Amino acid sequence: MGKRHKNKPECGSRSGYDWHRRDAKELPCELCRQAEIMYWRNELIRRGDQIRANGRKARAKRLAALNNHTILEKDILNRYGTTCHICKQPIDLNAPRQTGKLGWEKGLHIDHVIPLSRGGDNTIENVRPSHGYCNITKNATILNEGRWLQEKLFD
Ligand SMILES: [Zn+2]
Ligand SMILES: [Zn+2]
Repeated sequence: MGKRHKNKPECGSRSGYDWHRRDAKELPCELCRQAEIMYWRNELIRRGDQIRANGRKARAKRLAALNNHTILEKDILNRYGTTCHICKQPIDLNAPRQTGKLGWEKGLHIDHVIPLSRGGDNTIENVRPSHGYCNITKNATILNEGRWLQEKLFD
């Protein structure tokens, strides 16, 4: 609800439209009616643009996160080396990474020290290189809790 007007505003404005309806209790004149229609037409366009811009921003953010993750892998190996942080044995960078493919157990997985499911994040401080096997068997247990059984892969 707009404020009441003491004097009649100029026609061809939104306040004119309000004045006709609320103060004069009459149908707005054509000029005021057009002004009101134009306002809402522009408003709807503006809101549509806003919604689309927000969608683009969200998509850009998701993409940036993905790219960030790709860059991160090199950074992780540069920073932490190619030894499994769980069992301290070397990781085979040529082994397949896809769980179940021949030799995947010794392949590289990026392990989250604090699992994402427990509120850990995707930062370089929270990830370490590990074997696929060690990562899978760690099974979303926080490393320092030491609750998983490390089987002897390398004996
Ligand atoms: Zn008017
Ligand atoms: Zn390992």
